Amino acid sequence: MKKRTRVNHPPPVTLAEDNRALVAPIYQTVKFEFDTLAETERYLRGERPGFFYSRSSNPTTRQLELLLAELQGRDDCLVTASGAGAIAQTLLGLTKQGDHIVCFVETYNPTRYLIRRLLGRFGVTHTLLSIDELEGVERVLSARPTRLVFFESPTNPVTKIADIEALTRLAHAAGALSVLDNTFAGFHQHGAFDVDVFVHSLTKHASGTGDVMGGAVIARAELIRALRTDFGVLGGTLDPHAAFLILRGLKSYFVRYQSQTASAARVAAFLDGHPGVARVHYPGLPGHPQHALATRQMQDFGTIVSFDLRGGAAAVRPFVDALELFALTPSLGSSESLVVTPHMMRGRELNAEQQRISGITEGTIRLSIGLEDADDLTEDLGRALDATGS
Ligand SMILES: *Cc1c(COP(=O)(O)O)cnc(C)c1O
Repeated sequence: MKKRTRVNHPPPVTLAEDNRALVAPIYQTVKFEFDTLAETERYLRGERPGFFYSRSSNPTTRQLELLLAELQGRDDCLVTASGAGAIAQTLLGLTKQGDHIVCFVETYNPTRYLIRRLLGRFGVTHTLLSIDELEGVERVLSARPTRLVFFESPTNPVTKIADIEALTRLAHAAGALSVLDNTFAGFHQHGAFDVDVFVHSLTKHASGTGDVMGGAVIARAELIRALRTDFGVLGGTLDPHAAFLILRGLKSYFVRYQSQTASAARVAAFLDGHPGVARVHYPGLPGHPQHALATRQMQDFGTIVSFDLRGGAAAVRPFVDALELFALTPSLGSSESLVVTPHMMRGRELNAEQQRISGITEGTIRLSIGLEDADDLTEDLGRALDATGS
């Protein structure tokens, strides 16, 4: 073999069955081959397991899928290049022209855009309700055949809690699928409920370090089987290297989530007693309107704390600009604490009543609590609140 050929066919290194890497290697390859055409054909007929082309599957992304399915307590999973990609591909895979979707004013903006603008172009209709309005859900589901109910809990940014037991019961009674974007609560929560499909952004608590994007859909085997080919051809596949980074992040998922939740509770309690704060939104606080529901259906109240500044719109700039430890940037669930002003990012297509329902005021602040020391965080918040002059 000439060297020019050799560099394209380097010497293979294989490990014996009894000699394993403790951390699985990254299968940074697009293609896989079998020894013979006959075996390739057997694979393509579905008669043997294997990997062939990484847009469809890859051992590194597959390891992440199997782990996430187990964490969320379902049979199977497909991972994608981003959380928005997981939601888009799931919605495209589950709906057809003429279908109807129930979703909520409190739903993540890009998801509402997908349902309203993108699916709308293909003749999928929707009804936008408030997550607080169970009677409305029941009324719409009994009036119109509905393909799926898409919801979140806690919601972004004011951490309203969806009654998952009631929503899934109503959806199933009407023959609709329940789809829960479980990004805020995490993989270790809500698995005991009768949710058909979970979607997640892996960009948040899964990776934990804010340096990689990914998404996942997790469901029973039959639903994932029905989505698999659509996902393969839609092509929003997660890269194996990103899958490796997310697998690495997941090793510390539980300790991070618990530590960040404990700090979030400290921050929420600190803000709750502060004269510069009109109202704190954190499901772990006894004053949260759905604290009892949250206590019943969650183990951990989450890493997101929102609140309304007493000084309203005028207080937002001095507050945010005075913060030193909280980075002014979107996303959540990373090791650094983050702050956003949700009013800036609110859904402008919502009417005044829907804006009110969303709970976002001009003085609303959303914090994502990171891994810093909680004393440093409350000290930083205290100083920034002093800067608002209230
Ligand atoms: C961030 C987020 C998404 C989108 O995830 P990306 O990975 O940023 O595409 C979807 N849903 C929720 C609730 C999110 O917070």
